[in-house]
Amino acid sequence: MDFQRRGVMLVLASPSGAGKSSISRALFGADPNIKLSVSVTTRGRRTDEIDGKHYHFIDVPTFEQMRRDGGLLESAEVHGNFYGTPRALVEEQLSNGNDILFDIDYQGTLQLYEKCRADMVTVFILPPSIKELRARLERRAQDSVGTIEKRLKNARNEMDHYDEYDYVLVNEDLELSVARVRAILASARLDRKRQRDLDSFVRDLQNQIGPA
Ligand code: GDP
Ligand code: ADP
Ligand code: 5GP
Repeated sequence: MDFQRRGVMLVLASPSGAGKSSISRALFGADPNIKLSVSVTTRGRRTDEIDGKHYHFIDVPTFEQMRRDGGLLESAEVHGNFYGTPRALVEEQLSNGNDILFDIDYQGTLQLYEKCRADMVTVFILPPSIKELRARLERRAQDSVGTIEKRLKNARNEMDHYDEYDYVLVNEDLELSVARVRAILASARLDRKRQRDLDSFVRDLQNQIGPA
């Protein structure tokens, strides 16, 4: 049996190409109880992106209004565009007992830590080697050679922060990595502090035994 519980904020972070999206996709496929936090952004939509699925595409005045109204849990400016995590969906999902997966950068994770530490579980994903990381980025074939080089350089900075995450795993075998992330999520769901009605359940069990 399961108790009513508060949802888990699961943050997956990795250097680009380490396998974050592949692991997320497998998680969503197997678990209807976990949703993706869809960010708002002021950058233009890429042709392969769907509004409301990959991002909510909004203009700068709308973004500024949301930020002024406290509608964003965290926000950042990257390469001249604004990005942010809408607050409303997160609150609603957590209190309904749904888990939320965040694909956000390190800066965003730091801001979330300040407000939501108790709800968060963070996982950092490493590639087995840089040779393999490069091979994966090339195999994905979504980026130019220059972009791949930039992402590899950037991977160095991101790896500086590995020791600030709760869990770290090396994504060598995808299936094993997915199983490990599912195990992390399963244990977070059983965290006593997330489970409601435990008190009354235990008291009821004790009452069934009778007085001491
Ligand atoms: P990529 O192929 O992983 O670079 O995918 P994208 O171009 O969609 O996203 C680029 C970066 O934006 C990734 O590093 C994401 O982690 C980050 N990102 C996406 N949404 C958010 C968000 O809501 N908050 C923060 N802080 N970062 C985000
Ligand atoms: P990220 O979201 O971290 O940028 P992706 O999930 O897009 O990374 O993975 C990058 C590439 O590596 C994709 O082509 C993906 O199919 C491949 N990949 C991911 N995990 C593994 C793995 N364990 N073994 C081999 N290839 C992998
Ligand atoms: P892209 O335009 O390629 O989707 O994202 C560019 C950069 O913006 C990423 O490297 C990521 O660091 C950042 N980013 C994307 N979405 C968000 C967000 O919602 N919040 C923050 N803080 N940063 C984001």
